[in-house]
Amino acid sequence: MAEIPESIHTVAAKIDEWHEEHQEGPRPHMGASLLGHPCDRWLWLTFRWAVVEKFNGRMLRLFRRGQREEELIVSDLRAAGMEVHSTGAEQSRVDFGAHVSGSIDGIIEKGVPEAPAKRHVLECKTHSLKSFKALCDKGVREAKPQHWCQMQLYMHGTGIDRALYFAVCKDDDQIYTERVRYDEEAAKALVERGRRLTLCERMPEPLSTDSTWYQCRFCPAHSVCFESKLTKEINCRTCALSTPTEDSTWLCARYGNEEIPVDAQREGCDGHVLHPDLVPWKWLPSDDGLTAMYEIDGEVVKNGLPGATVHSSKELLGLIGWEVDGDDESPVPRVEAGVSA
Ligand code: SF4
Ligand code: SF4
Repeated sequence: MAEIPESIHTVAAKIDEWHEEHQEGPRPHMGASLLGHPCDRWLWLTFRWAVVEKFNGRMLRLFRRGQREEELIVSDLRAAGMEVHSTGAEQSRVDFGAHVSGSIDGIIEKGVPEAPAKRHVLECKTHSLKSFKALCDKGVREAKPQHWCQMQLYMHGTGIDRALYFAVCKDDDQIYTERVRYDEEAAKALVERGRRLTLCERMPEPLSTDSTWYQCRFCPAHSVCFESKLTKEINCRTCALSTPTEDSTWLCARYGNEEIPVDAQREGCDGHVLHPDLVPWKWLPSDDGLTAMYEIDGEVVKNGLPGATVHSSKELLGLIGWEVDGDDESPVPRVEAGVSA
């Protein structure tokens, strides 16, 4: 008799598969939630979509749970007498220009017991038990500096000088709250950091040159920094011909410095040219400004709009077969194995 499949695994696998297939692409802006990250290079690589984290279904469901918690927190705050607005689909945004922006969980107009007349920016987070304990022991600035920075940016952008950090422990539903004061100097430095990194043409220095450094060891950019030194992503932001601008757009040199719509940025075009900081090869002076010349295994390889002697970025990354024209003497470069679309 045929065995009955373990339905629980089948159901879970199907659900996770659905979430994996529907995961969102990388965000277009440099988010306030990221700007407290310790590594300039990581921020640059994520903004340039040169390293795109792909999460499994379970992680994606976990993120969804965190987002749904916001609704419950707001409902509890209202039940406790606070006036809360700009939540859920009506969230307010702060925009600092040059691609730096963020969305606020909510605004508490009044009713926070320690300062009932004061307005507060609301920031909601869920924590594992371990993280929650550290938060209770050290406070948000020390235990979760990235969250503290996020709130500084929100206060800076709204002109509200207090934030309420609301944390829930996922294991046992304990609540921790902390009122955070606006720190103008820190907030301005964070905005400047964001603008410097979004508008920077070249990849910043790494946080550490030691591949075993604790903050690098499990970083999703570890391979780009220390191993292949090669991006796996083809989109307009990994292309050497794109330029981010002060007014939060991207321009393309191949198409007369026209603005590239965000959806088009995600696909790029056939004339994509790999950014010189995202490949391990030596960059040689180009003869037309729209084609890169790389030295790969001692041979000169042209990268750009594919033609008789020019190879596409997809070919160079091994995403499609290496096309050799009859007259093409170019060598087949040895690219890092395991590169995926
Ligand atoms: S591996 Fe280290 S240096 Fe590279 S992006 Fe990650 S944190 Fe920064
Ligand atoms: S050349 Fe193509 S891939 Fe490169 S920026 Fe322009 S449109 Fe994007």
